[in-house]
Amino acid sequence: MGFARELFLDHEDLSEEFICTICHDVLEDPLVVEHCEHIYCGGCIKDWCEASGTCPLDREPIRVDQLRVPQRSFLNLVIGLKRRCPFAEQGCTTVIELGDTWVHTMNCPANPDYKTECGQGCGAKLTRNEVEDHRCIVALKTQLAALRVELSQVKAEAENSKGRLRALEKMILDRPFDQEMQDWITQMCYEVLKGTPTPRPELR
Ligand SMILES: [Zn+2]
Ligand SMILES: [Zn+2]
Ligand SMILES: [Zn+2]
Ligand SMILES: [Zn+2]
Repeated sequence: MGFARELFLDHEDLSEEFICTICHDVLEDPLVVEHCEHIYCGGCIKDWCEASGTCPLDREPIRVDQLRVPQRSFLNLVIGLKRRCPFAEQGCTTVIELGDTWVHTMNCPANPDYKTECGQGCGAKLTRNEVEDHRCIVALKTQLAALRVELSQVKAEAENSKGRLRALEKMILDRPFDQEMQDWITQMCYEVLKGTPTPRPELR
């Protein structure tokens, strides 16, 4: 469950302390066994522990609740390991630290999902695959159609609200309210304008 060694620079010389002896790859989310201080990938040692209840290196009995996060200084060494970009095969030659993998991936121009803005000014965000088939006029027509749908929804909602307001108005006019209710209505109208309506008194 670790990171494949081949991803790392100088992977031939990678220190054994960064290798998980369960999966033989570079430690991923490492955990240390409390009493013997052996370190494994978190996922690897949890699975192992649940299956056999021992530490793989010394066969001593261990429990999952005896696994700890290693010291910060050790974690820093792990996340500082130099690796190749996940899109090296797509042409990215950038060398990154293990801990920067996610941020780099999101911003790597070789990532097929990486988007840049259309150079013709239509504002569309495009992946490299989309650039070839992109026509601004088509993109703008699609955008326009979506806006029309949105507009008709907004109009329908406005109509709906108008209808409810009319019904409320009729209810208020039709009803012989007592003084308390009239006061509340006046108060509510005032407070709705300020944005803080008070709870309605019990209807009688
Ligand atoms: Zn592992
Ligand atoms: Zn051990
Ligand atoms: Zn890259
Ligand atoms: Zn465009």
